[in-house]
Formats: sequence, structure tokens, C-alpha cells
Amino acid sequence: MATDCLFCRIASAEIPAERLAENAHCIAFRDINPQAPTHFLVIPREHVASLNQVDSAQLAGELLLMAAAVAKAEGMAESGYRVVLNTNADGGQTVYHLHAHVLGGRAMHWPPG
Ligand code: 5GP
Ligand code: ZN
Repeated sequence: MATDCLFCRIASAEIPAERLAENAHCIAFRDINPQAPTHFLVIPREHVASLNQVDSAQLAGELLLMAAAVAKAEGMAESGYRVVLNTNADGGQTVYHLHAHVLGGRAMHWPPG
């Protein structure tokens, strides 16, 4: 755990979040500043700065599986949703602990801004 990392502190429950799911690998919680009617994040429990540092197919898979499972539980499987991994500056990443955004409840636009 990186003590100066916001999402490590959410993972350890030092900082509260509205958790939607968790298992041995990942935690899903609602984004504090939602950009869609449903907007949650999925993070690995272990500190990984961004997609660039992912070296485990299992971790990458667990992240995506939880994204889909919670999207389904939130009722978005049929209507659809978007999964986003902002990576580094040009990707718009602001928190340097890997996270998948899952957004739904409205139609998304393409291309993204
Ligand atoms: P990024 O910009 O790195 O792709 O996404 C970071 C996300 O974390 C943003 O959507 C932001 O709203 C969310 N966020 C930042 N601080 C907190 C927090 O303390 N709690 C929760 N639940 N989300 C946060
Ligand atoms: Zn971290």
C-alpha cells in the first residue's frame, strides 16, 4: 500500500467510499463526481500506478470481470455502458492508482473529448 495514494487509502477503508463489490483482487465503488447517472470505479487492492504498470493477466482480467459484474448488477448490461482506463497525462488520468471507470444510464458520445 502506498500511504500517499488516495485509492490505496480507499482500499484500506481509511477513506470511506460507497462500495458496490469487492473480492480478493478488486474493489468497486461509486465515483465521488459522477459523469453519468451510474458511474463507478474498479481498482485493484494492490497499488499499480496505471495500465502501463500492469504485468498480470489475472489482475487485468479480474478488473474487467468486476466491471462487467457490477454493471450487470446496476442494471446496465442490456442498455449498455462504457469502460474507460484513463492513462497518464494525455489520457486524463488524475489519480495514479489503476482504475477502470464504468459509466452508464445514458447514451455515451463518440469520439470522447
Ligand atoms: P481519473 O481522472 O484519474 O481517470 O479518475 C479519477 C476519478 O476518481 C475521478 O472520476 C474522480 O471523480 C474520482 N475521485 C477522486 N477522488 C475521489 C474520492 O475521494 N472518492 C471517490 N469515490 N472518487 C474519487
Ligand atoms: Zn494506490
